[in-house]
Amino acid sequence: MLFALDGDTGVLCHRETDGSLHTYLGLRVDEDWLDDIDFADTAAAKRGLLERLRSFHPSLQGLIAHADGTLTPRRIHALRPGFTWEHRSGVTILGDAAHVMSPFAGEGANLAMHDGSSLALAIASRPDDIDAAVRAYEDELFIRSELAATEKHAAITSIQSMPRSRWACSARSGSTADDPS
Ligand SMILES: Cc1cc2nc3c(=O)[nH]c(=O)nc-3n(C[C@H](O)[C@H](O)[C@H](O)COP(=O)(O)OP(=O)(O)OC[C@H]3O[C@@H](n4cnc5c(N)ncnc54)[C@H](O)[C@@H]3O)c2cc1C
Repeated sequence: MLFALDGDTGVLCHRETDGSLHTYLGLRVDEDWLDDIDFADTAAAKRGLLERLRSFHPSLQGLIAHADGTLTPRRIHALRPGFTWEHRSGVTILGDAAHVMSPFAGEGANLAMHDGSSLALAIASRPDDIDAAVRAYEDELFIRSELAATEKHAAITSIQSMPRSRWACSARSGSTADDPS
């Protein structure tokens, strides 16, 4: 896994099981910034993205410049930590619908599975009072998701306040850190 971070811009990269490198360019920008880039024109889109990487080492720029295939833009949305809702009989939500957050701590799928098992256990333990079971599930979810969202917010904030030009690269068999500046 490779993280190369500079202020509001980061290049993240990992190796897929087929040996290819999968690269993400993460940016903190205005919500409509993507609208000015034509992702149907891959060459033009690469030029637009490389503008954001002018302060990065050429080898990191190359991960975008020489990428195969098309580029896929995605906006990252997050609910504020501590988001809750009024209980409504007969309905509840789980997973991202309940606590969508930035993917930087890599926990959304784990939380979604945890939600599913918690809801199932709550219902199984109170089959005669589904409403009470769902309330108990929601009360527990609010605490768990606020904790995860707060940690994630801290993670993304610390990533974006790392010193200019510092980068860290970790491999599965161990980890190394270096500073190319
Ligand atoms: C780039 C990226 C990297 C991530 N990395 C990680 C990671 O390393 N580890 C981790 O744990 N999590 C990670 N996540 C987060 C994880 O993917 C999500 O938290 C997880 O998929 C949420 O699961 P979910 O079932 O709640 O929602 P989703 O996976 O979004 O499933 C919702 C489904 O509902 C469908 N749907 C939507 N509207 C309707 C409708 N009206 N009718 C019918 N179907 C509908 C959608 O098509 C979708 O299939 C990452 C997310 C992103 C974007």
